[in-house]
Amino acid sequence: MSKRRPNQKPGTRLAHAGRDPERFHGFVNTPIYRGSTVLFPTAAALEANDQEYTYGRLGTPTVKALAEAIAELEGGHATLLTPSGLSAIATTFLALLSAADHVLVTDSVYRPTRRFCDSVLKRLGIETTYYDPRVGAGIKKLLKPNTKMVFTESPGSQTFEVQDIPAIAKAAHAAGAMVVLDNTWATPLYFKPFAQGADVSIQAATKYIVGHADAMLGTITANEAVWPKVAHTHDELGLCPGPEDVYLGLRGLRSLGVRLARHQASGLALAEWLARRPEVARVIHPALPSDPGHAIWKRDFTGASWLFAVVLKPASKKAVAAMLDGLELFGMGYSWGGFESLIIPFDPSTYRTATHWNGEGLALRLHVGLEEVDDLKADLEAGFARFATNS
Ligand SMILES: *Cc1c(COP(=O)(O)O)cnc(C)c1O
Repeated sequence: MSKRRPNQKPGTRLAHAGRDPERFHGFVNTPIYRGSTVLFPTAAALEANDQEYTYGRLGTPTVKALAEAIAELEGGHATLLTPSGLSAIATTFLALLSAADHVLVTDSVYRPTRRFCDSVLKRLGIETTYYDPRVGAGIKKLLKPNTKMVFTESPGSQTFEVQDIPAIAKAAHAAGAMVVLDNTWATPLYFKPFAQGADVSIQAATKYIVGHADAMLGTITANEAVWPKVAHTHDELGLCPGPEDVYLGLRGLRSLGVRLARHQASGLALAEWLARRPEVARVIHPALPSDPGHAIWKRDFTGASWLFAVVLKPASKKAVAAMLDGLELFGMGYSWGGFESLIIPFDPSTYRTATHWNGEGLALRLHVGLEEVDDLKADLEAGFARFATNS
């Protein structure tokens, strides 16, 4: 495999990490390995069971290529692949928590993560407390003797609160708790989880890493201390993503840098334009200096992704529906991270418990795709015209 080279920039490593053309007759990409059975050459080899590959579920060269690349980019010890982002999150909880443990989870967490805590963890006798994502060093007051984990997601789902991960990690580690981060929004390119204090970093690779809305995939990257626990549970649960999906993860990864740069520029241009619109009460985007999370984002992140929110001024449901229904470039759908623009309305007030959502009007989450930004503006502008005639 291509050696880790700390002197090369992440953008360069994206093109080379996890690749070893010499092993594959010079072909640039690691092939798709399909397989359940792996043969052993001798009875002694079978007994020793120590060859590189032993069973399809436990890994193939395709899996190894993506896992090595992600581990290198995130800056962790090693990486496991799972069939979805949610299965990566669920596996991490199951690996690191036991009955009678307590876990602190950010109130801005991806909603299905919250459902997992409220259903499976509860059934197993693991207590969840939701906390304000902006708690920072104040997390100290919420840590109990049996708190084993602080789960973070920065910026948070839908409402994009930026978390002070170094401050949270400092307090959690002092109390003997681990820090897990859902790093999907920033990707390892824009936030280095282990350098900032996380013990485990999760990617819903479905989103930016696959990047083309055509596969589901998750990754769990751990530091050396936590690695054996997550690796054993991952093995015991029998998780293995399909070979094509792993390949699509590798394929997407190679262009992640240029896609992110383009989406970031378009996303920021659109966010600034939206902030000046009379229909908009405010824009939630950590890269805007007016955003409450801007200072921490600037300190800890090296870029912003193109998923953000706008809060509209109070308007009728009919006006918003007229705006959304006629959009030609922005599709309505949930799984972001692909090349195409998306928009959905959302209302966090129905399920948050530790924080109070202050929405002046309806909130919209935008995912700015790779289309030309002028065309996207024109699409939204026509939407605002329909909004006005239906108000
Ligand atoms: C989408 C998403 C997930 C879940 O990923 P899936 O691959 O859809 O299961 C987890 N965390 C965040 C922040 C997400 O946006």
